[in-house]
Amino acid sequence: MHRKTLTELAKGLRAGEFSSVELTRACLDRVDRLDEQLNCFITVTGEQALAQAQAADARLQSGAAGPLTGIPFAHKDIFCTHGVKTSCGSKMLDRFIAPYDATVTQYLNAAGAVMIGKTNMDEFAMGSSTETSYYGPVKNPWDPQRVPGGSSGGSAAAVAARLVPASTGTDTGGSIRQPAALCGVTGLKPTYGRVSRYGMIAFASSLDQGGPFTRTAEDAAIMLGVMAGFDARDSTCVDRPVDDYRSGLDDSLEGLKIGLPQEFLDTGLDSGVAAAVTAALGEYEKLGATVVDISLPNAALAVPTYYVVAPAECSSNLSRMDGVRFGYRASDPQDLEDLYKRSRGEGFGAEVKRRIMIGTYALSAGYYDAYYLKAQQARRLIREDFLKAFETVDVIMGPTAPTPAFRLGEKSDDPVTMYLSDIYTIAVNLAGLPGLSIPAGCIDGLPAGLQVIGNYFAEARLLNVAHRFQQVTDWHTLCPKGYE
Ligand code: GLN
Repeated sequence: MHRKTLTELAKGLRAGEFSSVELTRACLDRVDRLDEQLNCFITVTGEQALAQAQAADARLQSGAAGPLTGIPFAHKDIFCTHGVKTSCGSKMLDRFIAPYDATVTQYLNAAGAVMIGKTNMDEFAMGSSTETSYYGPVKNPWDPQRVPGGSSGGSAAAVAARLVPASTGTDTGGSIRQPAALCGVTGLKPTYGRVSRYGMIAFASSLDQGGPFTRTAEDAAIMLGVMAGFDARDSTCVDRPVDDYRSGLDDSLEGLKIGLPQEFLDTGLDSGVAAAVTAALGEYEKLGATVVDISLPNAALAVPTYYVVAPAECSSNLSRMDGVRFGYRASDPQDLEDLYKRSRGEGFGAEVKRRIMIGTYALSAGYYDAYYLKAQQARRLIREDFLKAFETVDVIMGPTAPTPAFRLGEKSDDPVTMYLSDIYTIAVNLAGLPGLSIPAGCIDGLPAGLQVIGNYFAEARLLNVAHRFQQVTDWHTLCPKGYE
């Protein structure tokens, strides 16, 4: 059963070929057998999953089922799940049992999807390798010596290893697309405001966006259809009807105009990844698209801008973790200040502390204009580059990440090199645009991702563009050895 895609599983459930309980058991067995070596899961919710599966089976029989009813999935441990530990990959929240469900969790529950557990991630979603987790690193199923990317590494690896047909992630600077690329799966970051952030633990509120990991674009369309939607509890959530992401999947790409940003073909780009992108563009030409060179002149500002905006916002968001209201509390404090200092000092890991310090500095009275305000201005320029490009092209394509999966520990001592893993994804978050990554090649046994960026709320078009590619290529069907 693990070989089937979400779409195939949904068909099988409806046809009565197997039940959701059987399917859920099969997933739980695989997690039990294979996750020790991968470390994708922080929490496995077996009992709850089987109860949900039973309810889903009843619903399937009553004929009131939707496309996700009875489908097992894994939830990034950043989404609050009522009664279940929600750690955000941090010692700070190691004992935090969420008292409510995130909106995305509620929507998935209401659709009858079966959550089998919570996945490992970089601490508070800060990282590109899932090595900053309090629960230890996740291994890439393609090569256990290598990282799965991050911060949603557990979710990406779980889909790549066929532990689950789908999972959720969040993308603040690339954390859905980059691990999707490094693990060889499909990952979609929606338009900012398309998916509710309520109950999704905040990292950088003006950038964070939830989205799905799946094996195919068709499956991502099903997941997004359930995850998206207006929510009055998130003031940045956009009140706009959710498209039927499946209806246009087969639309022709005849006449599609693809922009290839010249700034993405820089010296940091691995030659194998570059070749994969070129070959993918060739496939699109065969499908009737034309490729034109475009320029995003302010692309080089994206990483430095992000590393002011994201730390600034995280320093504010994470101030609630003070040892009083949430999470870890140091023992035997001398006084209130000692309680704050030691709770935060002991509860947060090194990368989180680094970001809080940078952010606090950037927001301090004397430096606000020089850093945060300047970064917001640069952000505007980055957004305008994209808007200008979309006057002449329908979608933008390029690499998702500059290299295939790197070795565990390889970038841990050099934060700036690590930050550059998101050089092609970050601008999309700063602009609030949708983007996805699909498998587009294999370099010495490691997957390479193609990134497709669209205009605001063009998710349906992106999925159509990805789906057509997946009909004529088989990169997305490759499976890491040992997980077939
Ligand atoms: N790698 C980037 C960072 O460390 C992006 C993380 C994310 O998208 N959550 O901030």
